Amino acid sequence: MQKQQILELVRQEVRSAVIARKEFIIAANWKMNKDKNDIIGFLKNLNKEKLENKNKIILFPPYPYLYLLEEQLRYSKALYGMQNIFWETSGAFTGEVSVEMALDFGCKYVIIGHSERRNILMETDEMAGKKVGACLQHGLSPVLCVGENLDERKFSHYKERIKSQIATALSQVDIEKTGKIILAYEPVWAIGTGMNASPEQVEEVHMFIRSVLDSLFGEKAAACIPILYGGSVKTSNVRDIAVAKDVSGFLIGGASLDFDEFKRIISLLDT
Ligand code: PEP
Repeated sequence: MQKQQILELVRQEVRSAVIARKEFIIAANWKMNKDKNDIIGFLKNLNKEKLENKNKIILFPPYPYLYLLEEQLRYSKALYGMQNIFWETSGAFTGEVSVEMALDFGCKYVIIGHSERRNILMETDEMAGKKVGACLQHGLSPVLCVGENLDERKFSHYKERIKSQIATALSQVDIEKTGKIILAYEPVWAIGTGMNASPEQVEEVHMFIRSVLDSLFGEKAAACIPILYGGSVKTSNVRDIAVAKDVSGFLIGGASLDFDEFKRIISLLDT
């Protein structure tokens, strides 16, 4: 056997050992996709799978289909949540959905500050902060998305951007509530583009995010905050990114829509 082949085998063994040891969060962001039949089919397939493994699966469907997840995932290990929330509890806020409504449907998680909401609907870090506060006040876990755009990456301003996104959105968070928070690093240039951040880029940013969290909450409280990576995750790159330091899981868009593809990703993160 060639030296290169031996090195590759060793690399694969080490990768498998690291993946087997880590407990990942595998979150599916369906955005404004799918219809009723498609979701019913997906959930039926998911219910046929044994999900008795170390990883946690969280589905984020469009609002109108939440009742299907409440019905179909009653006995499942899979969890679900909403793609957005409003910070007020009720009232004249046409088109908005409250934390209580999320709880009414059995949601445990809410995606906050996704770049599509920031860029298309002009959501700010301050708004993300209010939404995080509303979630934590009612025991829901916010999945706070942060990440730089292409120019910020090109001109090396990505750390400043990410730091200010985190500092503003989490500035009011009580240290006792950090156990509920999930962070998702989603570089805007990698979302839906097919161009993922490299494992080295992911590792660098995740370690940086960890240091920002440490300075906000102290090392001990910050240590329990998982950091997910999102941006063109697929079967071909998920294992390489999974072994990067401080990667606690994935927020997956496109590759989570098709059940078979999503299932392959789940299995790739099992062992
Ligand atoms: C996302 O929308 O959160 C995302 C990561 O999308 P994709 O996986 O399609 O890049």
